[in-house]
Amino acid sequence: MDFRDCYGRDPEGSWRAPGRVNLIGEHTDYNDGFVLPFALAQGVTVTAARRDDGVLELRSLQSPDALRVTDPEPGRVTGWAAYAAGVAWALRKAGYDVGGASILIDSDLPQGAGLSSSAALECAVALALCDLYGIEVPRPELARIAQRAENDFVGMPCGIMDQSASLLCTEGHALLLDCRSGLSAQVPLDLTGLSLLVIDTRAQHELVDGGYAARRAACEEAARLLGVPALRDVEDLAAALRALDDPVLRRRTQHVVTDDHRVQAAVGLLRAGAVAEVGALLTASHLSLRDQFEVSWPEADVAVEEAVRAGARGARMVGGGFGGSVIALVPADRAEGVRAAVTVAYADRGWEAPRFTDAVPSAGAHRVS
Ligand code: ADP
Ligand code: MG
Repeated sequence: MDFRDCYGRDPEGSWRAPGRVNLIGEHTDYNDGFVLPFALAQGVTVTAARRDDGVLELRSLQSPDALRVTDPEPGRVTGWAAYAAGVAWALRKAGYDVGGASILIDSDLPQGAGLSSSAALECAVALALCDLYGIEVPRPELARIAQRAENDFVGMPCGIMDQSASLLCTEGHALLLDCRSGLSAQVPLDLTGLSLLVIDTRAQHELVDGGYAARRAACEEAARLLGVPALRDVEDLAAALRALDDPVLRRRTQHVVTDDHRVQAAVGLLRAGAVAEVGALLTASHLSLRDQFEVSWPEADVAVEEAVRAGARGARMVGGGFGGSVIALVPADRAEGVRAAVTVAYADRGWEAPRFTDAVPSAGAHRVS
């Protein structure tokens, strides 16, 4: 089914926005710290044409329903359509006069696997609406508009990383993003001889929402006790750990501060062309997420252990935790062995077979035709 089949006329163009993987820096974003995502080759494509009555017509090849939104307001649109309608709402709120459109969505990103299909959808729609109506919005601002759609229209309190990665990443690079200032820099990510394997652990544990909220609250409490605006501002980690009485808050603080340092260390290695050395930082990050931040899950721990045993340079869980994916940095000639080792280890435990995707650092959102 194409645009013509859906809407009985030709589209005016199509736009594509990628999903992302965060190489390192986990649970650092809401602590005003640093993250280092890169865009995937997989993404969401939006084909669209203007409508002169202000109405948004929405179809997705990944969903059976067809929707018409006449007046997008938070709370009035539910389900997947909220991600698209929310972008039109947020653009209008920001003073950009985008009109209606017929929109067809297609995607080769798995949904809810931690690869940020939601931001890819928002960013593809944002780019389409801006282009269709001849509106130029600087990309960092467009990222904030898409984030606002997800925060205030969908009702998901995500940070700025996903939308920034989808809009600002460039091919062959990761994006160093300062989550406090919003400033970003391109960092070369040349994977010659290596591959970054995403392992979907197929697991989703119950703690997801409550666990995330509790971690955020603990970080805010630690920052308050330490008298800093956010854990990013901790300068002397040893002194901070001595100052905190609660062992849980100590562990949370230790993870956030050391993971911020690992982002900086990874950037240094990537700029020096020492990509393989980043592997050790990935594994260190995983151990910190497992033991200090306590957000790992058994399928992730096994994937990391088996990947490293089978020759990966390092591996870690990605995303908020309690389910989702692991990334492993693997010498190209070990990639088959790593896949086999993780698959066998899962089968031995009676777990659902993991799924593998090669993550190739790709271009950010762009017009396709
Ligand atoms: P993630 O961003 O990690 O994939 P989220 O839960 O944040 O997971 O976003 C997934 C949601 O985004 C889906 O439940 C759906 O509402 C919406 N979505 C993503 N891709 C599509 C698509 N191709 N068609 C329709 N809705 C989509
Ligand atoms: Mg998402």
